Amino acid sequence: MAVRERNILVMNAGSSSQKCCLYRIEGDALLGDPPAPLWKGKIEWSAPDGARLTVLDRQETLPGGEPRGSGVSRLLETLWHGKAAVIGGPGEIAGVGHRVVHGGSEFQEPTRITPAVKEAIARLSPLAPAHNPAALEGIEAAEQLLGRYSPQVAVFDTAFHRTLPDAAAVYPGPHSWLKQGIRRYGFHGINHAWCTERAVTMLPDRDPSDLRLICCHLGNGCSLAAVRGGRCMDTTMGFTPLEGLMMGSRSGSIDPGVLLYLLEAPDGPTAAELGHILNTESGLKGLSGVSEDLRAVVAARDAGDARARLAWEVYIHRLRAQIGAMAASLGGLDVLVFTAGVGENSAAVRSETCAPLGFLGLFLNEQKNHAVSQSGPGKERDISRANSRVRVLVIP
Ligand code: ADP
Repeated sequence: MAVRERNILVMNAGSSSQKCCLYRIEGDALLGDPPAPLWKGKIEWSAPDGARLTVLDRQETLPGGEPRGSGVSRLLETLWHGKAAVIGGPGEIAGVGHRVVHGGSEFQEPTRITPAVKEAIARLSPLAPAHNPAALEGIEAAEQLLGRYSPQVAVFDTAFHRTLPDAAAVYPGPHSWLKQGIRRYGFHGINHAWCTERAVTMLPDRDPSDLRLICCHLGNGCSLAAVRGGRCMDTTMGFTPLEGLMMGSRSGSIDPGVLLYLLEAPDGPTAAELGHILNTESGLKGLSGVSEDLRAVVAARDAGDARARLAWEVYIHRLRAQIGAMAASLGGLDVLVFTAGVGENSAAVRSETCAPLGFLGLFLNEQKNHAVSQSGPGKERDISRANSRVRVLVIP
């Protein structure tokens, strides 16, 4: 009997990009190794020469001023039009999964998209201004092109963190904040959940029911998740994706007194201006003055730029300190995972982050660490030494 095949489109609206993959799934089982995507496309909204569309290996620059939604439609149409086409038409797509960053308290499971669900995603946009509106643009574009054929499902980055204990989720402000929904939600949950699953598969001799794992998601946005026995116990992002680690252009955690000081200063920024500064003019970009892209910051540092060096040092310091905090929340550590753009590609970040963690029983195999970055993307690796009690994994 022929195995039933279905094409599933996955859309990921990041803060700086829209990434899409088409997967051909055979049968009903999604367990085991992930299938390679049949098709990959992405738009980087702020590439040096404007919005850049990449499908398989072909690149083009989108016309300036084109609304993002029509850029996304153009990307999706290459699935069945032109040289990179892999299917005959939109009717061959069985379903679309959208990554949505903020699901608030309402959404704790993957949810079929309806007008009410879209309204709720829009309502939560002020809490994830770089992401929820981008996800809605992707949803609208997919609905217009594919809505007649395929159901659309939202998968929320906040959902993995629903198991956070109150002690980790509640902010120590007035108790009434809780009624207003002001609490830690946590983000990047889809990837933290994925990496947890893969780590368990990669370490068959460890008992998964009590495994203590810290997942370092280091992309443009950065967050850690502390996971015990598959349940998320702590995380660095909070009410919004602004809290926690230093990021590409986001500040991460700073003393709230700094914000009050700036808001009250005679020539200080308005609240909206401050939001812009914290989200887009801070982090690696703000400190270095070079770029939010770590590669450019490292190149400037190596050329002797003192601000780029400072940005690098603050980034690494905060990452180490938060790993220490997460390890304390877990009462120890068995697995450290590196994932996302920086986590997968920067051997130097992994090396410097891990250097002082020998006191946890964590030792990198530097040869393996550097080999990952040279072997290209897409491979899961254990880069720890044989005698390292803590396993260090790189998981795409
Ligand atoms: P997002 O999905 O949040 O937009 P990604 O997970 O794609 O981000 O990560 C993007 C970041 O990865 C870039 O800003 C860049 O700094 C970093 N990156 C990619 N490749 C490398 C590399 N070889 N070395 C260091 N950093 C890299």
